[in-house]
Order: sequence, then structure tokens, then C-alpha cells
Amino acid sequence: TDSIDTETPVYLKSAAHGWIPAVLLKQVAGGKMARVAVPKFKHENDLLTCGKMSKAQLMDTIDIPLSEYDNNVLPVQNVDANGNLEDYKDMVELPFMHEAAILYNLKLRHKNQKPYTRTADIVIAINPYHWLNHLYTHEKQTYYSNRLVWDNNEEDPRATLEPHVYEISALAYKGLIREGEGKDQSILVSGESGAGKTETVKICLNHIASTQAKEDYYYEDQIVKRVVESNPLLEAFGNAKTRRNDNSSRFGKYLQLQFDKSHNRTESYGTRRGQVPLVGSKCDVYLLEKNRVVQHDDQERSFHIFYQLLASPDKTQYWSELQGKTPESYSYLGRCTTTSIEGVSDADHFRHTVEALQLVGVQGRDLHMLMQAICAVLQLGNLRFGALHGDSDKSTVVSLEELRVLGDLIGIAPQNLSMCMTERTFTTSGETHKVPLNPIMAKDGCDALAKEIYQKVFLWVTKKINDATSVDETAMKLGYIGLLDIFGFETFEVNRFEQLCINYANEKLQQKFTQDVFTNVEKEYIAEGIDLAEIKYEDNGEVLELIEHRSGLIALLNEECVRPKGNDFEYVQKALAINKDASKLMIHRTDRLSFGIKHYAGDVMYSAEYFVTRNLDTLPTDLQECMEKSSNEILSIFQADDVHAQKPHPHNAPRQKSNIVAATVWTKYRGQLENLMKNLRQTESRYIRCIKPNTEKKELLMEHNLVVDQLRCAGVVAGITIARSVFPNRLPNSLVLTRYSNMCDARSSTAGQKSAEKCKLLLNWLLKDMDAVNENGDKVKAFVVGKTKTFFRAGALEWLESHRIRSV
Ligand code: ADP
Ligand code: MG
Repeated sequence: TDSIDTETPVYLKSAAHGWIPAVLLKQVAGGKMARVAVPKFKHENDLLTCGKMSKAQLMDTIDIPLSEYDNNVLPVQNVDANGNLEDYKDMVELPFMHEAAILYNLKLRHKNQKPYTRTADIVIAINPYHWLNHLYTHEKQTYYSNRLVWDNNEEDPRATLEPHVYEISALAYKGLIREGEGKDQSILVSGESGAGKTETVKICLNHIASTQAKEDYYYEDQIVKRVVESNPLLEAFGNAKTRRNDNSSRFGKYLQLQFDKSHNRTESYGTRRGQVPLVGSKCDVYLLEKNRVVQHDDQERSFHIFYQLLASPDKTQYWSELQGKTPESYSYLGRCTTTSIEGVSDADHFRHTVEALQLVGVQGRDLHMLMQAICAVLQLGNLRFGALHGDSDKSTVVSLEELRVLGDLIGIAPQNLSMCMTERTFTTSGETHKVPLNPIMAKDGCDALAKEIYQKVFLWVTKKINDATSVDETAMKLGYIGLLDIFGFETFEVNRFEQLCINYANEKLQQKFTQDVFTNVEKEYIAEGIDLAEIKYEDNGEVLELIEHRSGLIALLNEECVRPKGNDFEYVQKALAINKDASKLMIHRTDRLSFGIKHYAGDVMYSAEYFVTRNLDTLPTDLQECMEKSSNEILSIFQADDVHAQKPHPHNAPRQKSNIVAATVWTKYRGQLENLMKNLRQTESRYIRCIKPNTEKKELLMEHNLVVDQLRCAGVVAGITIARSVFPNRLPNSLVLTRYSNMCDARSSTAGQKSAEKCKLLLNWLLKDMDAVNENGDKVKAFVVGKTKTFFRAGALEWLESHRIRSV
């Protein structure tokens, strides 16, 4: 080798630690020595710093004579006979399993425009940030379906297939239609914002739609079209530009595709035997980030629909007041600099949105009503409040023209509107009295109303979509494929109530993931005929317990919300006192409004400021009652989304404890999640882990630390660790023979035997001194030969590799 890539990760043999991760720097001493840099590493499997190692991260550099190079330095990646790097499409086969090997394997594939990589049944998808046309052709769709769904004569076709999310959708479809034992399916897509979840779900959805009926004509099928087109519709109302993603979903979504299993098609033109038709879909949505309506960061935007409507040439047909208006005309939109997204025409999108709305039956009067509700939200933001007659404890609307326009729009007299915004009605011991609000409180109420209305709009659209796309579950025998696109684990500088909600969902999903990985390992070992007794794994039960149990974080917060003078500070003190023995709870040394949780994906400190209000999330009764009189039905149906819980009127009805608890955000959200989990448990789940390679939305660039963090959050490393807890390495029996046979001359004596037998003989001899001792002090073998693979205990394969006589 005459040039050494500074990014080449290697292992360095160290007397004290065995093989340790390092990185090759360059040749020194006139090409006689190779210089290897050893970074400081947190634990043995850590190798994050290659390529971008700072002085602070560097522990040492070591010069190795080239003549001793082979014995002391081992490539992390596989290098073929020509010295080219080889990648592994299934990382379970990596000879060395640790973060560095995973990272570099993904990186190599990413560079070669192979965004998908497998680890056993999981597909890891690295966002390529540019559309790789050749990966998503109709031919590719058909090819994956043919290989995985329709050709039944292969053992596991994946062995010869490039990893692709199409394999996940194809296998889900196959699982659904499997004769006799077909089961509901789910595809769980996770990853942080911008990692590609939503696109991935769309790719899978389109693939599943492509399995439908007559090859190229599937799209003309109205049902399939409605199902596919409802996706961008939901995006118009629920997505926004953020710093991390120009089209970021600000809600979680579980889309269930419905298949008619009673209609098992027999073979005819364009259909296959056993094919079941897609007959509809229904969508559950979680936690819309409604706060975005009134507030968003610089460089970000509010929900797409606002800008779409304002950019439309026919906006005045919905509301004449929109004449000449731009996002800058509305304080909810115009205060920041970013109102448009590069390369996207809001006006074009608006046309699509309206077309998609029509497809789900929203047109004419309904369409008007919907757009006017959106205008009402914008208009609310333009109301300004001032002190009443110089008394700063009281308020009045000072923007009278804006108030009049709003009144006209929603059909409520301006003086009524103004009254319900500037006063609050209280009931104590049977008597009602009105209390004036100061200008700040009045403005807060107005913002709360805007958020609430927007949430109504969103749920209304979701319901319309569901009405148009879903079929009655009792009418036929339905099978489901569910697609979950839900916010990934979040940790920011300041973490709030919303982050706790989101991270809680991720804990729930992680628990299921761990259980599923374990179950699959179990299956593999059984198939290989290996005894299982030894597998242990750590799950995140303790964190969930801390959040969920009877005096856990949820219950205590709800309790605090019921207490008449409940507040954030008291909540934190109680939570810390009662759960002080929970090992997953962290206490902030100075900030008494904070507490922390040791999540599976990392430690997070939460600021409990506003927890009580965010959890209660009640709109003042005066505003609620006023809106019920609106001529706009979306605004007037103020109880509609609470199908499970009756929304209490917190001030003029007696504060009923059970009512309040039932209506908190936590309670409802938790109920939704329980439902989701129950649903998922009835399905066969498949996982796609999306990874964002860099923060600049650039193609081909991979930031190591960013990726490794996500791999940890996604539980990819942990998942493989479970899979490999007893036997960290594995090789196909055939490879064991080709690789290590020449290490002893026992070859001739094994002629004629099965490869498993040959492996056993060979390894018995080679690894005779490598037997390990287990916890009980029993001696255990360093390897187990299964039917097709050999499983190695820690250290055994490394030993073989380092003693392998390299064939020249
Ligand atoms: P998430 O839903 O995880 O926040 P998105 O699915 O919205 O992320 O993806 C963010 C952006 O990344 C997309 O707008 C698109 O530009 C790009 N992207 C995602 N997946 C792909 C893909 N498979 N091919 C090309 N670009 C992609
Ligand atoms: Mg998304």
C-alpha cells in the first residue's frame, strides 16, 4: 500500500486490551512505518472519531513497521482480493460487530448510493437526500413482489436480494395473504426528524398499491388512488417547514390499509391467485403540534396550508378579505423571515390540496367552510388587546376593524366576541360572576382559541379522509397492514411536556422492538438447533414503570392538575420525592423545576415549566360557548373530538376530579398509545430504521457522531447485541471451512462428511484452548456449530482471524 486513507478504521493489537479500534493516518519513516492513531474511547466498541479526530480526542499515535503491519493491524471492513472495500448487505454477517463496523459499513454503502442495509429482519434506511430513480421503478416494485411474494420455491430470497424497503412491504403483504395463517401486519418506521420516515412510508405504500390488480392500471382504481392521495392531503394540514426538514410532519400517524380477505382473487388477467384487494384505509393521528399555529422559530414556518391558501390565485373565492393579502399580512405567519420554501410552489400545492380534498368529498360548501376556518385562525392572530380606559387589569380589543372582519367571517357579533375574550366567567357556590382579563391574558386566550380551532380543522380533515377511504369493518373479513410514521426520540436544549410525550411513545415502541428482536433470535437459534437457555437481555421496563405506574410521572401530573392550586413546582417536588428510589429518575442539582429520565436512548432533562397548563389544555368556557354559536360548523362543533372523554367545563361546572383527569392531554394520549400498542401486538411487526446522515440535507455526506447517536436511539446496536449476547459472531459453515481449513492439516481426514460435521472437527482442534467459563463456573465451548452457521463466543472469531494464515 502506498497511500493510506486517513479515514481507514482499523483494529490495533494491544497487549493490554486485545484488539482496539484505531485509525490509520499515514506512512512515516520513508514508507517503512505506518502511523496509527488511537482515539480515546468510551467503551471498547466505540469508534466515532475517525476521519475527524481532534487533538483532544486523540489518545496516542503508534508507528508500526510495515513488515509487522499484518500481524498488528486488522481492517475493520472486509477487503477483497484486489484490496477493494467490500460491504455487507446484511450486517449480521459482519465479522466484527460493534458500532464502528456498523458505521463504516453503512457509510460505504451510502457512498455507493445504496441507502438500504439489513440487519436480519430490520432494514436501515439512510436518507440519500436525492431521489435515486433507479431504486423506485415499476420494474423494481414488481421484481421484489415476485421474488418475495409470489415465487414460493426459494428458501429465503433475501440472501440474493439487495436490501430495500420494498422487501418490508412485500413481506408484509405476503404475511397478510399467507394461506390459512395470514395475519395482520405492521411496518414501524422510526427515526428523527428529517431522517426520511414519511417518504419511506410513501414508498412502501406505493409499493403495496402496485401489487394491486392490473399491472399498470392500478392507479386508476379510485380506492387505491384515494388511499394514496390522502397522504399529501394530510401533509398540507399537518406538515410544516422546520430547520431540520422542509416538509416535517408535526403529528404522528398510523395508517392502516384495509384488505378484503373474503375476496381471495383467483387468477385472471392482471391478478394473481391469492391476491387480496386493497379496499380502503383508515388513519389515526397523534399529538398535532398545534402550538406552531401561534408561534414558530425563525427560519421555520407554520403549517403549509396557510401559505398555500394565501398563494392561490383564487383565494378570494373563499374569503373576499384575502384580496391582496400575503403571509406578511398575518401576524401568526409574517413575523419571521421565512415564508417560502425553495423549489416549492405553494400555489401549485394548493391546487393539489383542493383536488385531493375533492377526491375525499370535501367540496362546495364544505370546502368553503374549511378554508374559512383557516382564515379565522389567521384573523384571530391579528386581534390586538389594550388596557381598558387606562386600567391595565382590564382589557379591550384595540384592533376594531380586524375584530369586525373576524365577526363577519365566523358569524358572531363583534361585541360578543370581544366580551368572551376580555372577561372570564366564574362560578363559586352557585353564583356566577365575571372577572376582567388583563391584555396579556386576553391575548393568551385568543391564541388558545386559534390553536384549538386549528386542531379542529386538522381532525375534521382527518375524519373526512377516513370517511371517504375506510370501509366498514363489520361488512367483510378485513386484513390490515398498518404503517406507523411517528416522531422519533427527541432531546433539545430545553425539553418540555411535548418531548416527554414523544419520548414516552418511543419507550413504548422500543420495548416492543426489543421483545420482537429477542423473539426472532429465539427463532433463529431454534432453527439452528441451538439451546437457548442463556440469552438474557435488558429491557426498558423500569423507565416505563417510572412514567406509568400508579404513582408515576403521569399519575402525579394528573393529580396536580386536579388540585385547585396545582402548579409545576409542587408537581416536580412530589414526583421526585415519591419516585426517589427509581433508578431511572434524575434530579437536577440546582433547578428545582427540572427532573430527568434515563431513557434507553440517552439521558434527558425536562423542564416542568407549563406542565400543568399544557396537560390541562382547556379552553376558557366563555370562548368555548361563544364558538358554539358560530355559523361555521367546524368551529361550532366544539366537543366533537372528545369521543372518549367528556370535556369538563372547568369553571362553571363543579370540578369533578375524574372528569378532569379523563380530559388531560396525558390521559388521552396514553389511551391512544395503549390502543396503538394493543393493535400492534395483534400484528406481525417489521421495522425500518431511518437515519439522517447529516444536518445539511446534503447528499453523500455522512457525519459520524450524528449517525452513531441515531443508531443507538434506534436500538440497532442494542438489538444486534441481544442477538449476539451469547454468540457475538457467526459465519456460514461453508465460509468457516474455506477460511480456516488451511490452519490445520486435518483436512483429508474429514473428506466426505457434511460441512457442519467438518466445521465441528476443525474448530474443536483449532479452538481447543479457547473454551470459556460461564457465570456458574461451568466450562463452555467457544463455538456452537448449527445446521448452516457456526456461532462464536466473544473472542473466538477474533482469535481465528488473527491467526489465520493468509493465503498468498
Ligand atoms: P421525516 O418524516 O423522517 O421527518 P421525510 O420523510 O419528510 O423525513 O424526509 C425529509 C426529506 O428527505 C424529504 O423531504 C426528502 O427531500 C428527503 N428524503 C427522504 N427519503 C428520501 C428518499 N428515499 N430518497 C430521496 N430523498 C429522500
Ligand atoms: Mg415526517
